[in-house]
Amino acid sequence: MKSSLFPWFEQSWSELSLNNMPHAVLLHGQTGIGKMEFALYLAKALLCESTEHQKPCCSCEACHWFDTGNHPDFLGIVPETMVSSLPHEHMEGSDSLEDKPKRGKKKSDDDSEKADKKASSFIKVEQIREALEGINTTPHRGRQRVVLINPVEALQAVSANTLLKTLEEPPASTLFILLSDRLDRILPTIRSRCRLIALPRPHKEQALAWLSNQVQLAGIKKSSADIDKALSESGGSVMDSLAQLLGVDDREDTSQATDFLLGALAQAGQVNWLTAAEQIYKAPMPDLLITLERWIFDLLSQQQSGQIRYYPSRQIDIEKCAKLARPNKVAGFWRTLLDARRHELHALANRVQIEALLIRYQELYKD
Ligand SMILES: [Zn+2]
Repeated sequence: MKSSLFPWFEQSWSELSLNNMPHAVLLHGQTGIGKMEFALYLAKALLCESTEHQKPCCSCEACHWFDTGNHPDFLGIVPETMVSSLPHEHMEGSDSLEDKPKRGKKKSDDDSEKADKKASSFIKVEQIREALEGINTTPHRGRQRVVLINPVEALQAVSANTLLKTLEEPPASTLFILLSDRLDRILPTIRSRCRLIALPRPHKEQALAWLSNQVQLAGIKKSSADIDKALSESGGSVMDSLAQLLGVDDREDTSQATDFLLGALAQAGQVNWLTAAEQIYKAPMPDLLITLERWIFDLLSQQQSGQIRYYPSRQIDIEKCAKLARPNKVAGFWRTLLDARRHELHALANRVQIEALLIRYQELYKD
């Protein structure tokens, strides 16, 4: 799947001219539509050394290096939690070449200590400094260097300023590909130095067709109802739906936790917040918040228009809860959740936060 262009990006791709790129592009769009795949495809094409028109050719030396995470002129900067999204040697346990720090290391060492030693969801200052240090030298292959940063909103203030300085005086032969799910969280000064490229989400039919094709290619049997359900439960995020359908994400714990959370929410005013929080607090907070947010959205929408968007498979529970919950309180809670999401990157103790939210949820059912 790596380095392929998704059908819903073909138009955006055709509008790019590889020979006429600005020094920085900022790709933005909804979460889970494949922006990272697009960015990697672009990076690979820029570094491809084929003389053909069609780039990336996927067969030259440069393309091969890129695919295995060894291209010397490609720098991918992501938070620790996203390291696996960068190209890397896919054979696990293979004697890694020159020990590239921070790459491919993740899987082995975090299984046992997942709970206490959490991978950082920020891009660290050192990561940016290290990357930008050697940037004024000539690219190793003499052509171009590509620096990818995903997501830009994961930069802390100091790093954002370091990046800004570099963008103000862009080094020759270096192209920055920045990505963002949340354009509103990015310094306007950074934004204004990039060409903004809005990447579209696929239409529903397009997403369903693509998912069903991927599932088939993987040799997995899923009905079209399963695929439809996965897509709607992930809020239209094709990448999340695919991971869920293939069962290949390292998010198994997460989907268990969100299932548990949904079960708890279905208990309306009887929700046992203490037990629920105990069961789920180790899952990533953004996932829990999104689940809660979608559930409340469905409650609200059921109350207002009798419609359910995210969890049609849980219609009976949602209808029951919508009847019992006080509409004005539900609307207030919805705003609280949006606010919580805005601050989700701040390290609030998960357990305390999820307990507090579930207590608020229980309150929805009382006058
Ligand atoms: Zn190539």
